This record gives sequence, structure tokens and C-alpha cells, in this order.
Amino acid sequence: MDIYICPKCSQTLKQDGVHKLVCFNCGKHYLENRGVTVFSQNKKWEENYSGAHEYYSSEKLSMLDGDEDYMSYLAPQPDSLVLDVGCGDGVYLTSTPSSCNAIGFDVSFSALVKAASRGIPNVKWICSDDGFPLKDNSVDYVICIFVVEHLTDAQISKLLKDIRRVLNKNGKALFVTDGPFYDVYFRPLFNLVLRGFLTPLDKDPYTGHINLMQRIKLSKILKSENFSISSSKVIFMGWRFLPFRFFIVALKKLGLGSMAEYFFCSKYSITCVNKK
Ligand SMILES: [Zn+2]
Repeated sequence: MDIYICPKCSQTLKQDGVHKLVCFNCGKHYLENRGVTVFSQNKKWEENYSGAHEYYSSEKLSMLDGDEDYMSYLAPQPDSLVLDVGCGDGVYLTSTPSSCNAIGFDVSFSALVKAASRGIPNVKWICSDDGFPLKDNSVDYVICIFVVEHLTDAQISKLLKDIRRVLNKNGKALFVTDGPFYDVYFRPLFNLVLRGFLTPLDKDPYTGHINLMQRIKLSKILKSENFSISSSKVIFMGWRFLPFRFFIVALKKLGLGSMAEYFFCSKYSITCVNKK
């Protein structure tokens, strides 16, 4: 797989021994450490994220209503390459089909070490805080799950341009992002009623949800970055609770689906796109 490029000069990197990638143009080399190939590390991200990555672990998130097998939305073809952007401890790549290859990309080395220790076959792990060290048009599928809510608009725009660059022309990508309802309205109210205090939003630029957005806003951003939307949906809180499901379905039948999306219990959205 000659798909890695040098972040310094963009030349193709060559494997030199088992644990080293070398740029024969500028002489830089990149080492594999504990199963993770390190291109660059950012101390600030690492410090903040390494304390929080247990929180991001999806074994916990899977307790939430509607959490599902995101990989199945893309149904990767045999022999294709999947890139997980912001893979954290790698939980979503555990459902990589055995016929595919995958790359888990993250800013946190410690989360990636945990990911690598899962021993998932056909998955490589990359640590970088500055874009993907990957060739243009080298990836078939991208998954980006619960990432954009941690980024500013400018960071999202930069990320989407880089995703578009590495996706091949028939490439597909999937974005999952938390909506504002739960964090901004439900959780504080829930805590106020049950515990007698309001929980402030985590506004930390490294760990907080600094850019919560509805499905509609994410779709707009994706379109403006030259992706076409192939499907999008909202996961409502309490979806597995039958009476609540009837309530939401009834609102949709009454033509109030988008109102329900804005004001009632939207937990997160799933959006699939094609490269235009
Ligand atoms: Zn180089």
C-alpha cells in the first residue's frame, strides 16, 4: 500500500524495515510505535484528549438509544479502503469487513495505542494533528463519527477539504454528529429536576461540544464543500421506547417532522455523502 505521503514535501513514502516509513526526497522518516505510525503529535490535544478518551469510548455510547452499526450505512465493497477520521480508541473499526482494509486516524496517540491493542486485522493506525498523510484519491470510504461537534467552522472546512482530497471519485463518506437538543436543553433540565443543579456545557476547545448542529446545518456545510447528500436522518432520544416512537411518528405524519427535529429530543444525526 504505497498510499502514504510525506507531510513535509508530499512525496510518496517508502517502507524501510517493518516499523519505519521514509521520504527519499527530504529524508524525513516516520516511526511506528506500539502499533501506531506517528506523523505528528500535538501536546495540547494529547493532554486534554488522553484524559477524556475513556469518555469517548463507544462501548459506553452504545448504551444510548439508536446507536447503531454505522459501517453498514456505507456497506464497503471487498478490497476497498476505509478511513476512520477521529477514530479514538477504534471501536467503530471493529466492524470493518474482513475483506476490506482500513486506516484509523486520530490526534491522540494514547487513544490510538488502545485502538491498536484491539488487534483488528487489516487496520493501520495513524497519529497526526495536521491533515491526512495520504495520497489524493486513495480512499474509498470515510467515516467521521462524533467528531465535527468538537471542531470550529474553520477546522471543519479544512477537514472536509482534506477528506474530499483523499476520497476517490466514487468515494462515499458518513458523518455522525450530536445535535444541540440533548446537550443544550435536555441534560441541564434533567439534572435540574433529578439532582437539583444545572450542568454547564463543556466549552473546552479540546474536549467540549463547541459546534453542536442540526442535520440541516451539517447538510448545508457538506454541500458547500462539494459533497452531495445521499441520505440523512435524525436519531431521536427514546427511540426504542415504543410510546415515544409513536409520538415522533405521529408528528411526522402531521407534517411536523422538521419541527420535531428542531425542538423535540433529537439526539444525533447520520448523513451519508458522495464526492461531487
Ligand atoms: Zn519528504
